[in-house]
Amino acid sequence: MKKYNFYAGPSILPQYTIKNTAEAILDFAGTGLSLMEISHRSKEFVAVMDEATALFKDLLNIPEGYSVLFLGGGASTQFAMIPFNLMNKKTAYLNTGAWSKKAIKEAQKMGEVDVVASSEDKNFNYIPKNYTIPEDADYFHITTNNTIYGTEIKEDFDINIPLVADMSSDIFSRPLDVSKYAIIYGGAQKNLAPAGVTFVIVKDELLGKVERDIPTMLDYRTHIKKESMFNTPPCVPVYAALQTLKWLKNNGGIEEMYKKNIKKADLLYNEIDRNPLFVGTVAKEDRSIMNVCFVMSEGNEKYEKEFFEFASSKGMVGIKGHRSVGGFRASIYNAMPYESVEAFVQVMKDFKNKI
Ligand SMILES: *Cc1c(COP(=O)(O)O)cnc(C)c1O
Repeated sequence: MKKYNFYAGPSILPQYTIKNTAEAILDFAGTGLSLMEISHRSKEFVAVMDEATALFKDLLNIPEGYSVLFLGGGASTQFAMIPFNLMNKKTAYLNTGAWSKKAIKEAQKMGEVDVVASSEDKNFNYIPKNYTIPEDADYFHITTNNTIYGTEIKEDFDINIPLVADMSSDIFSRPLDVSKYAIIYGGAQKNLAPAGVTFVIVKDELLGKVERDIPTMLDYRTHIKKESMFNTPPCVPVYAALQTLKWLKNNGGIEEMYKKNIKKADLLYNEIDRNPLFVGTVAKEDRSIMNVCFVMSEGNEKYEKEFFEFASSKGMVGIKGHRSVGGFRASIYNAMPYESVEAFVQVMKDFKNKI
């Protein structure tokens, strides 16, 4: 039976990425060696790193003065690396969920954190608005897409202090004005590559302005100087990321991806709003186009398990909501075809007709 992969992360990747990476694992670039066993200093792998960096910059239109890094450690290591590199005394954070909270916790180890607003009062089902960002903070940190709760900040903020964004789960899903940001980072395993590589876009001129002695591996300048090759990079995930970047380029780039993502999200949210069995959990204007969260409507909670089993029997995988929200979450990342969302919507309709 065909499987439809709605996992939140690690999650669906283009077949192009999976196939090309599998081939390179058997024979990498005609070397007769596996991608897993070749030196990261070989000219063949250096070419992969260079091309991935260049294509990443090209697809996002990254201006001069920014570096793109591929590191290990996951987005979670960035939670500490950011304050290590940018924080003198005080920073500001927007608390929009579990990942924001983890980022805040790391920053608090290094100084004063002004949490300017939080949506925790309503289990993070909306994005706070109308708050004041302190001008004396070294940076303002946001999580643009809240993978667990299905909320998303869909605009590039114009603020007076450096803006730092965790874009683990919405990078490459919409056009982005990188010039508005100081740092954009994320784990690759939501929309780019298998787990193991972390991307960081960093504005070079903001570095070197803190007093503290930064551990070598946690200093962005180490990795900028060595072009992500200071230590052994996660070679297989970087190779896979390059394949996804090529796939994006071959499929019309981010503008085209964005159009498709809007179409997919509209289709699914429309069914959630139309079908009396289901109800969305998120304020409509803040609905994520990547992670679609919903629960059974009032009075229909008793059907939750039955819907899950019905959907599973039709090949729908990874649709259980995060334990802190409950219900269902369908993650519809870039690689998810429109037809798969249609198939899921059909399952929702069929279930309504069946009960
Ligand atoms: C998954 C996720 C993370 C954690 O990433 P790791 O690479 O596992 O550390 C952080 N932030 C967001 C928004 C995520 O979706």
